[in-house]
Amino acid sequence: MVDEEFTFARRGATQKVLSVRLSAATKWRRTIAWLRRNFDPHYEIRVRSVVMKDYGDTDFCMKTLRFFVRIKKGQPLGVKLDSLQHEWAHALTWEGADTYIEEHSPEWGVAYAKIYRTFLQWDYGRSNGPLLGQREFSF
Ligand SMILES: [Zn+2]
Repeated sequence: MVDEEFTFARRGATQKVLSVRLSAATKWRRTIAWLRRNFDPHYEIRVRSVVMKDYGDTDFCMKTLRFFVRIKKGQPLGVKLDSLQHEWAHALTWEGADTYIEEHSPEWGVAYAKIYRTFLQWDYGRSNGPLLGQREFSF
């Protein structure tokens, strides 16, 4: 649904931008794509919404060399996005499933802070951001 239309000047050129009201499903999909573009852990991360007790968890499969992030299904979008960013930071700072010594290490905290702070600046790609596929932030 289009709310309003406005123009802005960017690098000397005037472009038209549509301010769009996005559905929760679109915000969820765009956030996952945004995380992949900007916070790449060098291994594929598969994200699934599943029925589970916890808010989320992360695992790494040594056989397929993939991360699996599971997020609790049926939560409000804000809660799911918080959990997703939390788990994504685990994938970025992964030291192996055997490393239960300090799960939320200082490195994890820095990664989570970077994701969280840049996410707050991002608006799901609605405004004058980079072209699709480009990084908005470097990690
Ligand atoms: Zn955690």
